[in-house]
Amino acid sequence: MSSLNGFAHNPDHYGFQTNAIHSGQEPEKWSSRTVVPPIVMGTTFKQYEPGKHAGFEYGRSGNPTRNSLEECLAPLEKAKYALAFASGSAALTTMSYLLKSGDHILTVDDVYGGTNRFFRNCANRMGIETSFVDMLDLELTEKSFKSNTMMVWIETPTNPTLKLVDIKAVCDLAKKKNPEVICVVDNTFASAYFQNPLELGADIVSHSLTKYMNGHSDVVMGAIMLNDEKLYERMKYLQNAVGAVPSPFDCFLASRGLKTLAFRMQAHMQNGLKVAKSLSENPRIEKVIYPGLESHPQHELYKSQMKGFGGMISIYIKGGIDESFRFLKELKLFACAESLGGYESLVEHPAIMTHASVPKDQRAILGIDDNFVRISVGLEDAEDLIGDLNQALEKAIPNV
Ligand SMILES: *Cc1c(COP(=O)(O)O)cnc(C)c1O
Repeated sequence: MSSLNGFAHNPDHYGFQTNAIHSGQEPEKWSSRTVVPPIVMGTTFKQYEPGKHAGFEYGRSGNPTRNSLEECLAPLEKAKYALAFASGSAALTTMSYLLKSGDHILTVDDVYGGTNRFFRNCANRMGIETSFVDMLDLELTEKSFKSNTMMVWIETPTNPTLKLVDIKAVCDLAKKKNPEVICVVDNTFASAYFQNPLELGADIVSHSLTKYMNGHSDVVMGAIMLNDEKLYERMKYLQNAVGAVPSPFDCFLASRGLKTLAFRMQAHMQNGLKVAKSLSENPRIEKVIYPGLESHPQHELYKSQMKGFGGMISIYIKGGIDESFRFLKELKLFACAESLGGYESLVEHPAIMTHASVPKDQRAILGIDDNFVRISVGLEDAEDLIGDLNQALEKAIPNV
């Protein structure tokens, strides 16, 4: 930051929202002194003389718009460093190169469908074996460690059944077993606004920025945040070597999305709570899962580990596959679509849509049944969303 001549923004001195607006975005960075970081599309950068450059050589290894986004992302996760990738999955693929053939990954069983698919069908082909365990059971988790376990993969709240893993307990366990184990937490569902796993002992936080962090359903991107300099250097090397980097235009959009993350998350939570409460009282619903409700089995852990929760709600409706189908088709405001965390409300059927790649017997264990529906509550008026859910439920389940 020496080129900033004293204008460098030090995120350690400021709060979340100030950093979302200023970190990595000093106007003094650019010769035009533009207040909004520019989209630098150039793939290559003129060197002063061979080997002497202004910090950028080639667009894959570094890009000014991407660097600006990364400098903004890091402090939001209370991290020193951040690296952006072409997708959340690209971040996972790149992290898998921290491991080698013969290593073992211990992951929470109720993991994002694409992560499950990567571990089962891609990492295994590189000779990396994965065990899927119920990390709510700490004894079972401890027993599942192997001498070659080199990565622990936590996702919490889990997707789609919204279980909470005790991040500190599992990271402490891992470090006790082997200090070299890399503990990764997929923090996509909570967003950096509601949960900061690095403060609880994680080595790396992973995000699909596609979801809440960008929040506008118009960018596919991933990022990791971390504090350890050596691990950062390895991942920075891999970011360039593996090459799964995002476009400068998308980095601009994600940076823009972060400006309203705090406000969006507060509004997602308000709406989420209202919708969850209303569904809990609906006779056509068997069960509502929402960490912010006292009825959630881990509401106490929720209160100690998270600062809040957004708009993700999972429900079991009264009925089977036919009722679920009808419910999804009758909704007018909620689009039947995959993904989550955008300003618009979405609804999906995990067994058929997002978690179809999870084997059927495993789905049964996790509770991803035919009457199980996942809702992403957006930022529309809560009353309108509740009205829409009620009318669709009445049509799908006429007799109660
Ligand atoms: C979407 C998602 C991912 C994958 O991210 P992409 O950007 O779609 O590749 C990983 N983890 C969770 C929890 C997700 O929701």
